[in-house]
Amino acid sequence: MTAPRLEINVDKIQHNAHVLVEKLARNGISVTGVMKASLGLSDIAHALLRAGVSTLGDSRIENIEAMHRAQVLAPMMLIRAPMLSQAVRVVRQVALSFNTELTVIRELSRAAQEVGRTHGVVLMVELGDLREGIMPRDLESTARTVLGLPNIVLRGIGANLACQSGVSPDARNMAELSALADSIESALGVSLDLVSGGNSANLDWALSGADTGRVNNLRLGESILLGCDPLRRQPIEGLYTDAFTLVAEVIEAKSKPSQPWGTIGQTAFGEAPPARLGGNIFQAILALGHQDVDPLGLRAPAGIEILGGSSDHLIIDAGDSPLQVGAELRLGLNYSALVRAMTSPFVGKKITEGITEKLTAELTTAR
Ligand SMILES: *Cc1c(COP(=O)(O)O)cnc(C)c1O
Repeated sequence: MTAPRLEINVDKIQHNAHVLVEKLARNGISVTGVMKASLGLSDIAHALLRAGVSTLGDSRIENIEAMHRAQVLAPMMLIRAPMLSQAVRVVRQVALSFNTELTVIRELSRAAQEVGRTHGVVLMVELGDLREGIMPRDLESTARTVLGLPNIVLRGIGANLACQSGVSPDARNMAELSALADSIESALGVSLDLVSGGNSANLDWALSGADTGRVNNLRLGESILLGCDPLRRQPIEGLYTDAFTLVAEVIEAKSKPSQPWGTIGQTAFGEAPPARLGGNIFQAILALGHQDVDPLGLRAPAGIEILGGSSDHLIIDAGDSPLQVGAELRLGLNYSALVRAMTSPFVGKKITEGITEKLTAELTTAR
């Protein structure tokens, strides 16, 4: 089989999404399945839709176009602010986009008139993480202007935390979002059907039993795909953390000294690694590198240690495992490694189905 390859278990993805959809539904919160780490792969989109997500979201119009070409039938939203240069593509492909700039929304309005459609706009509000968002004091005047634009419908407001600065969603900033929704509605005499509170980092808050106020949507990517809470990078109880596995092939396996010799300068990707114990180790090289994956985001099986990686080589201490040339090694991935592997043209994608083993999270301690 081709290597490296990403094995994608769509049943585990569906399970994860379904668990979260059900839990959040009890709080009146719908789930937008965020596809952006999936390169628009229709098998993943269908798994999310079977699980009951209300919409699919992606940050890139190319992925949304790919899903449409693959006949994925679902409401889709662009969750990154559109590029000015892509306004026509955006109004053609999605009925709704997340926005922070009036210049862009005016262009969407022009494009929507040209194409003969209406386009929905969710205004993103800055709540302290310092990534995207309109400053709260400017929200009302921006919303007022949006309401006057032809072929544009103001659908709601949203926020995104825990991405740029690691600011956690909590009772205070989420209450601020709810209060903003209320004040926009009363000041402008509109009703906002979408209050999109955030991403996987919001789960702790949303499921804590706290008052979720006006928030009626979350956009979930990492928690569904990796069963992981991004605030602490801990497994979420009841979810699979191994829906994705990266399989790589051994191209060299030799007993070698654990310590390099010669004058030491920088390595291919920066600083030399710290000195290690003396003696020999059983070292193997996998045909895998920065062009395929983020090597720092890989998890090796027990007894095997990843020593480092360059563009095309991943060096491991194989310990006592009898890895020979041609053998395959199975590796776990974090979100950074997953995004790189999904988008690398060198990594094959293999869809797998069925859940044979025990739920991984049953074996790990509950949060
Ligand atoms: C990536 C992204 C998400 C999904 O984040 P996860 O942490 O993967 O759940 C949600 N909203 C926006 C705007 C994003 O860019």
